[in-house]
Amino acid sequence: KESVMAGENYEHDMDAKESQDAAERTALEELQEVRKSLPIYAYREQLLQAVEEHQVLVIVGDTGSGKTTQIPQYLHEAGYTKRGKVGCTQPRRVAAMSVAARVAQEMGVKLGHEVGYSIRFEDCTSDKTVLKYMTDGMLLRELLGEPDLASYSVVIVDEAHERTLSTDILFGLVKDIARFRPDLKLLISSATMDAEKFSDYFDTAPIFSFPGRRYPVEINFTSAPEADYMDAAIVTVLTIHVREPLGDILVFFTGQEEIETAEEILKHRIRGLGTKIRELIICPIYANLPSELQAKIFEPTPEGARKVVLATNIAETSLTIDGIKYVVDPGFSKMKSYNPRTGMESLLITPISKASATQRAGRAGRTSAGKCYRLYTAFNYNNDLEENTVPEVQRTNLASVVLALKSLGIHDLINFDFMDPPPAEALVKALELLFALGALNKLGELTKAGRRMAEFPLDPMLSKMIVVSDKYKCSDEIISIAAMLSVGGSIFYRPKDKQVHADNARMNFHTGNVGDHIALLKVYSSWKETNYSTQWCYENYIQVRSMKRARDIRDQLEGLLERVEIEISSNLNDLDSVRKSIVAGFFPHTAKLQKNGSYRTVKHPQTVHIHPNSGLSQVLPRWVVYHELVLTSKEYMRQVTELKPEWLIELAPHYYQLKDVEDGASKKMPKGAGKAAM
Ligand code: ADP
Ligand code: MG
Repeated sequence: KESVMAGENYEHDMDAKESQDAAERTALEELQEVRKSLPIYAYREQLLQAVEEHQVLVIVGDTGSGKTTQIPQYLHEAGYTKRGKVGCTQPRRVAAMSVAARVAQEMGVKLGHEVGYSIRFEDCTSDKTVLKYMTDGMLLRELLGEPDLASYSVVIVDEAHERTLSTDILFGLVKDIARFRPDLKLLISSATMDAEKFSDYFDTAPIFSFPGRRYPVEINFTSAPEADYMDAAIVTVLTIHVREPLGDILVFFTGQEEIETAEEILKHRIRGLGTKIRELIICPIYANLPSELQAKIFEPTPEGARKVVLATNIAETSLTIDGIKYVVDPGFSKMKSYNPRTGMESLLITPISKASATQRAGRAGRTSAGKCYRLYTAFNYNNDLEENTVPEVQRTNLASVVLALKSLGIHDLINFDFMDPPPAEALVKALELLFALGALNKLGELTKAGRRMAEFPLDPMLSKMIVVSDKYKCSDEIISIAAMLSVGGSIFYRPKDKQVHADNARMNFHTGNVGDHIALLKVYSSWKETNYSTQWCYENYIQVRSMKRARDIRDQLEGLLERVEIEISSNLNDLDSVRKSIVAGFFPHTAKLQKNGSYRTVKHPQTVHIHPNSGLSQVLPRWVVYHELVLTSKEYMRQVTELKPEWLIELAPHYYQLKDVEDGASKKMPKGAGKAAM
């Protein structure tokens, strides 16, 4: 009897499996139909022929027409992957992950097999991978190990119009590689009309442009400037929801915090509107959103409901969300800004360019006529917005790319083939910093420390901190700190209704005013001691997801330590060693307390403050080193640790002189102290 039962079950299973297979087949067939409906499909043969005939091709087509998802598949179908991988770069990691997932689905393969992605600290590829999506920064890092990109048959620099720092550097490098590798195909793809500029740069490469599908978009400006764009955005969304015909809404915000705030306010206001109105589904999307939740924005909106997507710039051109009919554009984005004179970098909420505004509006007209609500005036648009966004290379700290270029053997940076050169001052500043960090010698050549630092996919100051930890025998602690600093999202969780509990939990890690870096270390080690317990995270108001990411990053850093032959060693009894390692990397970020409780940065005096979230915000040590500056209502230092001024002379003799570190407290320091250390 038993065997009959088993047999029955078996047959039953087979049926279930067969119907599942059949369902998968139809789903795949449907996806193939969708592929054929994309605007680029009509140009498939022409495009493949152009690629065959030309080594370098500039491709221009509207957002959503199928460039990113289809071109690599066409190349695969045409046999290019027999000679090597097809690599496709994306400026944003969310885009690389999401697009790879989509293409794997369209090809009916498992993500990470034939189709994969590679982003910093996460490699989802295998030996089988032939279509590889990756961030532009990752291709740059791959070049360090494979300077001729020998394993690739085609490289697509996608979203070229974004002009990120890594994309601009890649331009110069792949242009050069293409000259000595005639078999390598190079495609530069862009959503905007900068095509001529790209073509000129790539020795007048031909331009392949094809029309997308665009429906008219009605543009509305506000009649008077908005004092509070968050509030204006929410009111606009609710007004659309109540008054306008069905169709999804896309709102552009500048970052995760804004999006979370907007989500909370929207939920609250919707509840207040009662049950008579339609369902409004809120979907956030930003870089640190966990991938399970990212997929939600692509799910079709249920009949009768409306979806509102709260997005960062990622939805401007990198990701296409179908079904958007209304765009709400407050007109801002978060941008890096860099002052080459002081070497200070900050994230600023900045007005977008006209080109961005046009792209944003375009998101409303992809599947039918749409409407765009700009939360600024027409006068504002015409008179205040720049035509184009300034390329990142002209507004960022260049230390990390200079280090990468140096380790690629490119020494003459002034004559590097930049599409738009950075300010000479910024290059000089980067060289000076790398020299002060000991990565370059007086001749501008890479030192042994510099070569080690270049192995880490981190800012040179963080890499230096890690490399130095070898000397202080605390690499174990330092990579935990570096990992915690690299997580991206916040570590501490602070729900509105439990703020007091959360703050108390947080302060537990700050006992003894150890400073924020050591507090992060304590969080990590305590979590590790509980064997990475999720429960422990809940109890201590710690974000589980951030901790898991920190662990992944830490594992990779540990692997890299081995590569540069640094032993893992622990020195928990001597926290000064840990602090010294931090200062050895971050000494340019030193600030000194003023009488009024603010701080002044030492080298290029500027007024800054300790961030209220810091464990030292009430302590106000005389001398501090900080991880980064953020500008909100004031210029704040985030992640702060106390230091002894004499360390500056000991650890950074090229950078600080005795006069820099003299103050009331240490005037009696022996005159020779600095010299002795040099
Ligand atoms: P382009 O690169 O030209 O802007 P894409 O290739 O990114 O265009 O997008 C083509 C189509 O694929 C769009 O209709 C988009 O909605 C769809 N698509 C892309 N990624 C996903 C995804 N993860 N899930 C569902 N649809 C997607
Ligand atoms: Mg694209």
